[in-house]
Amino acid sequence: MKKNLSDIDRSRLRGRVVLVRTDLNVPVEDGRITDDQRIRASMLTLRLLSDAGARVVVLSHMGRPKGQPRPEFSLAPVADHLSRLLGRTVAFASSAVGSEVRAAIENLEEGDVLLLENTRFLPGDTSNDPELASAWAELSDLFVNDAFGAAHRAHASTSGLAEAVIARGGEAVAGLLLERELRYLADALQDPDRPFVAVLGGAKISGKIDVISALLPKVDGLLIGGAMANTFFRAMGLETGNSLVEEDRIDMARDLMGEAGERLLLPVDCVVADEIESGVETRVVARESVGPGDRIGDIGPETRRLYAQRVRDARTVVWNGPMGVFEIDVFAEGTIEIARALADACDADTLGIIGGGDSGAAAEKAGVADRISHISTGGGASLELLAGASLPGVTSLTDA
Ligand code: ADP
Ligand code: MG
Repeated sequence: MKKNLSDIDRSRLRGRVVLVRTDLNVPVEDGRITDDQRIRASMLTLRLLSDAGARVVVLSHMGRPKGQPRPEFSLAPVADHLSRLLGRTVAFASSAVGSEVRAAIENLEEGDVLLLENTRFLPGDTSNDPELASAWAELSDLFVNDAFGAAHRAHASTSGLAEAVIARGGEAVAGLLLERELRYLADALQDPDRPFVAVLGGAKISGKIDVISALLPKVDGLLIGGAMANTFFRAMGLETGNSLVEEDRIDMARDLMGEAGERLLLPVDCVVADEIESGVETRVVARESVGPGDRIGDIGPETRRLYAQRVRDARTVVWNGPMGVFEIDVFAEGTIEIARALADACDADTLGIIGGGDSGAAAEKAGVADRISHISTGGGASLELLAGASLPGVTSLTDA
């Protein structure tokens, strides 16, 4: 177990410079933030530190500027947005290291927040340069890593900084968001209440093979949907028409089916169309009756019913990946039905966890997001955790 910010006595924070790595990597178009979810998710920790009277120095990356300053990836608009959410002025330093940063920290009063410019404007961040990590570690003896979305990468502003702070005798702890993500995606699944059901969908098997392998021995049921199911259909010798299939994963799908036996469920019917486009005419067919010109866009109504029932009967559910092309209304029904079933289950005290960007968006679209036990803020990092991997951003922290 790792030390958490919530383990630290608040009286120890007053007046102290605290470095916080958060994930403020939000989409910005023409200087406007189009989705502020990650900023809002960071607020818990920032507010706690500010309220406790810490002098808060925030590090984050945005986009992939590849080690040089690129104005379109500046965090300046995020500082303004943070100010509004926090209800107090957030200072901004136009660099992430150096004399300007040190001077800005000197000016911080108790409870003040300073946001540094994009850490990835420096080539040393993604290359995990120990000198860059040390330069940051000189600024404070307390580092809070709250960047769950970046925790699967070993970068100077994540694991490098944690190690450097600890090497100097300081502490590196998990922020409130990171602590919560670990509680749900790692701890809760160690010894889950049963039945334990995983619902996996999305575009590709290849990106989720490790998750399937890690979950298979633990689950009572693994419900497959999305385009991923098509590759399994091919492994069964079924026609999939013009649907998305990963030809090079068909053998792997066959092996997984052998290993899983009855615990692996595949759709029994599908929603198909000539094209995957909005407004197209769709048909429902049994999985044995997909035609050579068809494209599978969603699970069918019988599958929806079967899967929803399994979800409602479960005590623990993990869901990653939509059941169909949910961005298009005529192929969204399967995903929405799963989202609703999961919300109903959560209302009845089932632990329901959504890991991954698109499934979280689907729960929002279905209007049930606030009823789900936990929706992860990190796509790649949550997949790594579900696959049983340890994250550098976590292993580098101080032991509890
Ligand atoms: P997540 O982000 O939840 O992990 P993925 O990124 O793996 O999910 O997959 C999401 C994408 O999969 C969505 O954009 C969705 O449109 C697509 N998808 C789901 N089902 C199908 C299908 N039958 N055919 C084509 N694409 C699909
Ligand atoms: Mg995705």
